[in-house]
Amino acid sequence: MLQQTQVARVVPRYLDWLDRWPTVEALAAASPAEVIRAWSGLGYNRRAVNLHRCAQAVAARGGFPAEPEELRKLPGIGPYTAAAVACFAFGAQIAAPDTNALRVLERAFPGQDVPVPPGRAYEWNQALFDLGREICIARTPRCAVCPLAAGCPSRGRTYAPLRRQSRFEGSFRQRRARLLREIAAAGRLPEAGCDAEALVSLVRDGLAEVAGGEARLPGQTSLATSSASPSSDGSSASGA
Ligand code: SF4
Repeated sequence: MLQQTQVARVVPRYLDWLDRWPTVEALAAASPAEVIRAWSGLGYNRRAVNLHRCAQAVAARGGFPAEPEELRKLPGIGPYTAAAVACFAFGAQIAAPDTNALRVLERAFPGQDVPVPPGRAYEWNQALFDLGREICIARTPRCAVCPLAAGCPSRGRTYAPLRRQSRFEGSFRQRRARLLREIAAAGRLPEAGCDAEALVSLVRDGLAEVAGGEARLPGQTSLATSSASPSSDGSSASGA
């Protein structure tokens, strides 16, 4: 949820989510339509589909695997998430660098393979996250207060602005998000009245399905289901 959405917006949604689906098994038993609705407004809705598929895979195998290689076989889990879960949930002594941590390592130890301190992978990874997020920030790192400054070859440098994300307004992502909201609100929409290109893309990503000339959320069996489960917030989706 935090990948593209601010913490303040995520926290209440995260707590609501856990109230509704406190276990992997509970989430696995939900319909895709319910999960997509509950994700409404958090953006990048494919993550909701992946999370649901992942919960189903974990429930089917009777629990999470602990090894990063096995975690990576689950839907939606890439190398970073696999390493992070293995380290933070199962105590694996491995690096789990996110974007912020990678930035610190590339600046402070360029070209080096920095070993994880034995037995301290959890603290080491968390410290790199914090350092990258608070001190070694993207454009103007705060080297004056950095604990790595004494030995850092990048100390004092500033960096060009990062490439900005393409505008959401007027984008294809916006069209997808709008159509998904419309389908979720209506329960079903005549296929002929939908943005065809956006609908194809939603179907391909498992966010919608078409049957009998109507578009609907996947796994939605009746209109009653949709009206009984309104979107959990009224905010607009920032991406689909
Ligand atoms: S000294 Fe500056 S560039 Fe080096 S790690 Fe610290 S904040 Fe980043």
